Amino acid sequence: MSVPEPSESNLPLWAPLDTPVQYSPGVGPHRAALLEKLGIKTVLDLLLHLPHSINDFSDLRAPQQLEKDVEQSVYGRVVDTDIRRLTKGRSIVGILLDCQGQFVRGTWFNQPWMLKKFQADDRVIFSGKPQRRSGRWEFGNPRVHWLTDEDTDSDVEGAVGVLPRYHLTDGIKMDQMRRMTKQAAQKYASHMEDVLPDYYRDYHKLPPLAEAVTTLHQPASREQWEAARHRVILDDLLEFQLGLAVRRRAWGAQSLAYPVDVTAKVDARIRRLFDFRLTGGQDEAVKDLVEDLAQTQPMHRLLQADVGAGKTAIAVYAMLAAVAGGYQAALMAPTEVLASQHWQTFEELLAGSRVKRGFLVGGLRAAEKRQLLEDIASGECQLIVGTQAVIQEAVKFRRLALAVIDEQHRFGVRQRASFGSSVETDRKPRQPHVLVMTATPIPRSLCLTRFGDLDVSTIRELPPGRQKVVTSRVATAAEESRVWNFVRKQVASGRQAYVVCPRVEGQSEQDDAAAETVFEQLRTSELSQLRVELLHGRMDRETRHDVMDRFRVQEIDVLVSTTVIEVGVNVPNATLMVIRQAERFGLAQLHQLRGRICRGSFQGYCFLLSTADSNEAMQRLEAMVESSDGFHLAETDAEIRGPGDVLGLRQSGALPLRVANPIRDLKVLRVARQMAHDLVRTGDFDSDEFAALRALVLRRFSHALDLPQTG
Ligand code: ADP
Ligand code: MG
Repeated sequence: MSVPEPSESNLPLWAPLDTPVQYSPGVGPHRAALLEKLGIKTVLDLLLHLPHSINDFSDLRAPQQLEKDVEQSVYGRVVDTDIRRLTKGRSIVGILLDCQGQFVRGTWFNQPWMLKKFQADDRVIFSGKPQRRSGRWEFGNPRVHWLTDEDTDSDVEGAVGVLPRYHLTDGIKMDQMRRMTKQAAQKYASHMEDVLPDYYRDYHKLPPLAEAVTTLHQPASREQWEAARHRVILDDLLEFQLGLAVRRRAWGAQSLAYPVDVTAKVDARIRRLFDFRLTGGQDEAVKDLVEDLAQTQPMHRLLQADVGAGKTAIAVYAMLAAVAGGYQAALMAPTEVLASQHWQTFEELLAGSRVKRGFLVGGLRAAEKRQLLEDIASGECQLIVGTQAVIQEAVKFRRLALAVIDEQHRFGVRQRASFGSSVETDRKPRQPHVLVMTATPIPRSLCLTRFGDLDVSTIRELPPGRQKVVTSRVATAAEESRVWNFVRKQVASGRQAYVVCPRVEGQSEQDDAAAETVFEQLRTSELSQLRVELLHGRMDRETRHDVMDRFRVQEIDVLVSTTVIEVGVNVPNATLMVIRQAERFGLAQLHQLRGRICRGSFQGYCFLLSTADSNEAMQRLEAMVESSDGFHLAETDAEIRGPGDVLGLRQSGALPLRVANPIRDLKVLRVARQMAHDLVRTGDFDSDEFAALRALVLRRFSHALDLPQTG
């Protein structure tokens, strides 16, 4: 590409901030090519290349100068690392630094993965408020900066002030990056338009944008740097949250749902169906739903509750409420196994009732299907349970008030819309209220971004009497043989077991990742006395259902399967799970799988077979052994893998953020969400003062979020 050099006499060919980065002072074509690897193409990209941290040498002290409870830093080399195991799976990691001949310790409580982050001889800075413990200084949970080869010793020795630190790429050193960003800021920062009105900025105590960007790359103190960084990250998140708020408002204005009133009588009638009392958390969720259902604005609610917390009961409640109001309700599950399980639940609960119900899955016979579709279209069929088949074109509802989507947090906006509208001849078209249920707890932060347009109900407690599954990692053949012994004993006392494998087919005779191979091995050796069966997604539907049914009525002791049993399967008597090559599963998936064996009142046991020793695998398996709290595990997962991967969003670019990271910046995200909410609710966002911000939000998100072009 040949780009003419801009000169004073020419009109600029591009807006200053869009200038190709090679023309920014100190960059040039060679470095521009390197910067492109970091996604930096324009001057604006360079200005928004946030320092991820700072080296704060302004409060750097030698150990003998440290003071108790004052924010300070020390610099040293790692000489020792250790982890102390406490009871109940808790732990303390300790890192010992040699600071010019004196030892200083850093400690982390319940963060076992910190251990692996340090290597002997690493040069690091600990920052925090130290305490005196056993004759030496100790930093509890300090911030850590690893110095790298780019940080020259002269940077550290006798250094003063605050230096920003950036992600780099081969060929660009830290001090070069510092110079480039600093010079770009000096020349171009003033061109950054501040889209926030002065009064608003003052009210929220935010520095002007241009000033923030300059400070970011050239901070005088940690406080200044943090305020500047806050401003830049806040803008990113605020704009995104405004995009979501605008979309939500547009939906609300466009669509109309059937208002469902839940009378006390209906409420009591539904509750009587269950042979248990709803837990406090379930009651809360019901309350949220009842409120939403009464509106003519369609509900978009996400119900997240850990595996086994009892989401089905909530779905049942909401659907029967809709039916009682004279409407239709549909439930959609991701797999047929799961759909048929829900169907059975309804069949049992509604055995004596007149509610007309239909089971809609792909494999129905043509005549059967035609009849069902007719009944749905006429309104005859009131309650529909099925798979994706429910949202196919041919399905026309007469008065669909509620759609429940189970175990599908990836269910997108488009699919949500695809239930279509129910049209009664003499009325306006109506959208269903939508309830999405998931047992993959989504870290709060991601919820607020990806699901910023959904209301969220969360059930945190499990029904009473549930036992925590005892989980252990199994690495050697001797241990494994003890596991099978244990399985035999438990089966003898009446329990059942799952053996889960990552694959269906073997790549060799010995392949212990393949369900087929493992099945053959187990039933001819270790478990030859037991009734062992195989279940996987490639078996035909009839066989699969047959196997599941026989497992349910305990004609099968041990089910060797793939992850087809992952979601929702409910066999309370199955209390054992052996997972082969457990390192191949993600943390969320392992947690889901383990959720299959805490359904009843018997003690559950989970064995994670794995010989893997990679850092990440160890962290994951360790987290499983230590915690059974799905929310905690999800946060840990996000920490180990980064936020994008957790929802499989990294590639799809579903988080269109520039500088913010919703996990890291959770606090800012909350602030941004509140600000966006207030701006839209008060109507300030539609005022002239916010015209620039409105235009920016549209420019950034109209495509990604399908925003209406007006308003
Ligand atoms: P999930 O949230 O994983 O979908 P389910 O809805 O399948 O969980 O419920 C798991 C089990 O807990 C079921 O056997 C269900 O009958 C039972 N259950 C649900 N709510 C309660 C409750 N409030 N008290 C006792 N048992 C309950
Ligand atoms: Mg479920």
